[in-house]
Formats: sequence, C-alpha cells, structure tokens
Amino acid sequence: MKINVLYSEEKIQAKIKELAEEMNKFYNGEEVYVICALKGAIMFAVDLVKHLNMPLKMEFIRLSSYNGGTKSSGKVNAVDISLPDLNDKNVLIVEDIVDTGLTAKFLLDFLNCNFHTKSTKFCSLLDKKITRQTDVEPDYYGFEADDKFLVGYGLDYDGYYRNLTYIGYIEK
Ligand code: 5GP
Repeated sequence: MKINVLYSEEKIQAKIKELAEEMNKFYNGEEVYVICALKGAIMFAVDLVKHLNMPLKMEFIRLSSYNGGTKSSGKVNAVDISLPDLNDKNVLIVEDIVDTGLTAKFLLDFLNCNFHTKSTKFCSLLDKKITRQTDVEPDYYGFEADDKFLVGYGLDYDGYYRNLTYIGYIEK
C-alpha cells in the first residue's frame, strides 16, 4: 500500500521542538505530570518530553474509540485509566489527534471529576478541527489536519503503520 506523506519526520520534529519551547516557558520549571494517551500518542509523547526542561513524571492511560476501523465509534472506552493522585499537580495530557473531540472531552471530564489539579493542559500533535463534535479545543497543537484518515508516527490502521517516522494517508 502506498502512503502519501503529509508531515515529514523533519517537519514533525521541528514542530515538537516549537511546542516544547512554549511549554517550557509556560511551566517555568514547575513539575508536570505528562499523561500519554496510548497507543497513538506514544511516539509524540516520547519525543516531546526529551525537549521539556522541568521535572516531570510520565503516566500512561489507554482509551479507545475506533475499534479497528477508520471512523470513531462515537463511544469512548476507557481500557486503562489508572492514575496517581493528581490533586494540586500540573497535568499535561498528550494525544496524537483530536477528531470528534469525544476522547479529549471524556478525559478532561474524568480529570475534573476526580481531581483538583493545579493546571490541566491538553496537547495534541494533530487537530482535525473540521470533524469536531464537541467544544473541546487543545491548548497546544502541532498541525491542523484535513478530514483524512492518517497513519504513521503512532497512528495506526488496524494496528499497522505506528512505526513510520512520518504521517500520511493511505492511497486507495
Ligand atoms: P476523537 O475521540 O477525537 O474522535 O478521536 C480521537 C482518537 O481517534 C485518536 O486518539 C486516534 O486514536 C483516533 N483517530 C482519530 N483520527 C484518526 C486518524 O486520522 N487516524 C488514526 N489512525 N486514528 C485516528
């Protein structure tokens, strides 16, 4: 299958450095809990934290809404959402892509219901604003994406392509 490249490795890495610089300014050395939403955000979260200069801890949660297809099922499934005590902590959620926004909303509501954080910020590498069904907006995002099913750099199709260093779409 041919993948058309939309965001090259160089473009992604340059954008990550930009985002990290903004975050370093915002947190100004304060400790942060970085919450990586598996599996899609794994590559992004790992590369992002390399450029963050504050003390930080990484947590990993697993949500799913796709069930293997190329469209959101409309229902978010919390596969594993065990988290430490985040009261009075700075929390940075790291996602791969915001599409309908249902996953982001689920996660933000979950944090709001369970903790009084010091701050909660939501960061997504990609933002498909055009397909949004909620009023969620990421505090930080890398690229605004079209309504195409993207793969690579953590994003999968049926479990494949996560290992690509770039992001693109599958040519039919
Ligand atoms: P949302 O809940 O915002 O509709 O979707 C969030 C999740 O759906 C993302 O974390 C990601 O796992 C998946 N997703 C949304 N758009 C795409 C896409 O274009 N490609 C892939 N591989 N997954 C996507």
